[in-house]
Amino acid sequence: MSPLFINFAYIFSGALFILGLKMLSSPSTARRGNLFSALGMFVAIVVTLLAQGLDYKWIILGMAIGTGVGVVAAVRVEMTSMPEMVALFNGFGGISSLLLAWAEYHQHPEMSVFIAIVAFLSAFIGGVTFTGSMVAFGKLSGKITQKAVVFKGQHLINAAILVTALGAAALFCMTPASGFGYTLFVIIVLVALGFGVTSTIPIGGADMPVVISLLNSYSGLAACAAGFVISNTILIVAGALVGASGIILTKIMCKAMNRSLSNVLFSGFGTKTAAHSEGDGPQGEIRPATAEDVYYILEAADSVVFVPGYGLAVAQAQHVVKELGDLLEANDTEVSYAIHPVAGRMPGHMNVLLAEANVPYDQLVEMDDINPRMDMVDVCVVIGANDVVNPAALDDESSPIYGMPIIETHRAKTVIVLKRSMNPGFAGIQNALFFAENARMYFGDAKASIQDLVAEFKGD
Ligand code: NDP
Repeated sequence: MSPLFINFAYIFSGALFILGLKMLSSPSTARRGNLFSALGMFVAIVVTLLAQGLDYKWIILGMAIGTGVGVVAAVRVEMTSMPEMVALFNGFGGISSLLLAWAEYHQHPEMSVFIAIVAFLSAFIGGVTFTGSMVAFGKLSGKITQKAVVFKGQHLINAAILVTALGAAALFCMTPASGFGYTLFVIIVLVALGFGVTSTIPIGGADMPVVISLLNSYSGLAACAAGFVISNTILIVAGALVGASGIILTKIMCKAMNRSLSNVLFSGFGTKTAAHSEGDGPQGEIRPATAEDVYYILEAADSVVFVPGYGLAVAQAQHVVKELGDLLEANDTEVSYAIHPVAGRMPGHMNVLLAEANVPYDQLVEMDDINPRMDMVDVCVVIGANDVVNPAALDDESSPIYGMPIIETHRAKTVIVLKRSMNPGFAGIQNALFFAENARMYFGDAKASIQDLVAEFKGD
């Protein structure tokens, strides 16, 4: 295959990636954007394999095993476990880059200084991404504590690890082919794997969205460096695109939390939660409501804003919510869905669920658009959201989520909160909203609760 044709195919793939990414920025084009990017990746893989003239049997075996595992995992994964799966994917991307750099170094230890530098970057960032993502997976799935794990001297240990890695990298890059080079490379790999753990465990609670998008970015940067190691243009391009879009997403998530990246990475979120542990925090009288009570409130409302959160995903209530929304519209009520950027357990989680239920895109409103109008809203229906509607973020300086912008449902005329109990959300803190005078607690699984409301509307 001529180099001209290969490069032309790579430019075509790159263009499809960029077009796909652009289309992902709007829910109405996201599905097609995903297909465009997948097509770009397909072209890139086919051309790369044909261009190499390799022994394909190992590649086919690897692809078959990977495809098998991927298909089974994708079919079996619960929608609620998607965030964990995304964390795993990030991690696998990282370990691939590490292994690729290692294999290349193993085969060709006589590398130039430049290739040694990119091999170090690929192995180091890839290793950090792998173990960091495994910790994120553990936290999201509740297999390890979701709170920040902090201990004395943590920053010092992390600094020492980084200095060791940089020292080993400097020596390695000067003489990669020396007998000591291999030992240095292994040290770099071990340090990277350790650093992934020690740099991710201090981050917890509501700061996890930032970590996930950052790890996503790291996986791209590692792939980009791996592309330089094996001189593969499309891997460099694809890695750079993932790295850059991950950084942009990280910035968006930081803005959504009103925190700087360094604050998230170095402050150890959740350390203040000790003062806010369960049972602590705001107390007072709650006003429980039955399906019938809620029906009368909704039936009389001119405007209703649904505010979905993680509980919507757990209950899989998106389809019944849409049904309720349609019934309200038929009743001449203005209906909208307010989305908080960090609601759920992964960026865009609520958008995905509501799109699956065919909620019209023009009914989705962003936090910054709904808050100024909140005083005029008749009823806010909070469906399994907690942290993203917690007023402590606005007025309680001692709260670990203080400063995070929220959807200000407490300012609506009436708030109805759908949840199963008084348990706290991901950040582990109690919510004063539930005790507010204008709030009614409608307890139960969100799907069953909304089904009961639908039945009330239909007069069943
Ligand atoms: P929260 O985790 O704060 O609250 C979810 C609420 O849903 C809980 O209080 C729970 O209460 C309720 N719930 C659970 N299951 C059901 C059910 N079947 N029916 C009804 N209610 C249910 O969710 P939010 O979306 O408000 O906030 C997201 C949090 O997750 C933030 O702290 C965010 O930082 C964090 N996070 C976000 C990520 C992202 O990328 N979006 C990634 C990682 C973390 P109960 O048990 O009483 O029913």
